Amino acid sequence: MSVSDRAIAAYLGLAIGDALGSTVEFMTPREIKAQYGVHDTLRGGGWLHLKPGQVTDDTTMSLALGESILAQGKVEALAAAQAFDAWMRAKPVDIGNTVRRNLLQFRKTGNPEATYSDHDAGNGAAMRVLPVALATFGQGEGAVRVACRAQAHVTHHCALSDAACETLVLMLQDGLRGADKNHLLHTYVHPLAALHPEFKFRAVRQSSNPSGYIADTLQAVFQSFFDTDDFRDCLIDVVNRGGDADTTGAIAGMLAGALHGLDDIPGVWLKSLNADTSRACAMQAAALFRIANL
Ligand code: MN
Ligand code: MN
Repeated sequence: MSVSDRAIAAYLGLAIGDALGSTVEFMTPREIKAQYGVHDTLRGGGWLHLKPGQVTDDTTMSLALGESILAQGKVEALAAAQAFDAWMRAKPVDIGNTVRRNLLQFRKTGNPEATYSDHDAGNGAAMRVLPVALATFGQGEGAVRVACRAQAHVTHHCALSDAACETLVLMLQDGLRGADKNHLLHTYVHPLAALHPEFKFRAVRQSSNPSGYIADTLQAVFQSFFDTDDFRDCLIDVVNRGGDADTTGAIAGMLAGALHGLDDIPGVWLKSLNADTSRACAMQAAALFRIANL
C-alpha cells in the first residue's frame, strides 16, 4: 500500500466519519439503539437535518485549512485564520462556540493567535489536523509540532488541545508510513497519558456519550481505534457511542484510514459520501502530499 493511497484514505476517512457520525450527534447510545439498532449508514438527518453523505465543520474546516496551506506552500497562522474567517462568513452548517468566539476576536485584532485559556479544551482544533499531518510529512518532529500549534492556536490556544493535536498528527504520520497499532500506542498514546492523565483511556469505563471536551473525545476514539481491527468496525463502534459523534467519527476515520488504507473503506460508504466532498478530499490529500515532498 502506497503512502499517498493511505493519505487519500485518511482524508476520505475523516469525511466519512463526519458524515456517519453527524446523524447521531448529541444522541445517547440508548437513543441510537432505539432508533437505528446499529447506526451504520450515511443517511443524513440528525439535529442538523443533513442530506445523506453530507459533512459538517470537521471536514469543511479541514478543507479550508488545506486550501490555505496549498496557497502558501506551508502551514501559516495568518493564512489559516483568514481561511477560517472566510469559511465562517460562508455560513457553515455548524460551528463550535470556541471557534466562533476566537474567529470574531481575530476579526477585531488581526492577531491569528487566540489568547491562552485552559478552558478552550474543546476538540475543534484536533478535528482539523489532517492537512498539517500531510503537508509536514517527512519534516522533523520539532517542525511538525510548531506547525500543529500554528493552526490550532487560531481558535484553541490550550495545552490540552495542543497535546492532542500534536499526538494525532505524529500518529497519523507514522500510520501513513505503515506503523502498526501497538507502535502508535506505545510511542504516542502512553506518553501522552503519562503527561496528561486526562487522556488515560483504559482507566475509564467504556466511554459513551463523549463530549466535545478533547479528553472525552480522544478517550472514545482511542477505545474504538485500539479495540477494533478494521475501518468499518472502528467507525461503527465510535459513532454508536453518540455524543459528539461526528467529531469522534472524523478523528477515528482519519486514523483508521491512514492505518488501513483505501481498500479497507467499505465501498458503499465511499459511494454514499457527497461527490463534491469526496473529490475535494482526494485532490487535497494528493496536493498536500506533493508539498511535503517538494
Ligand atoms: Mn461537526
Ligand atoms: Mn462535532
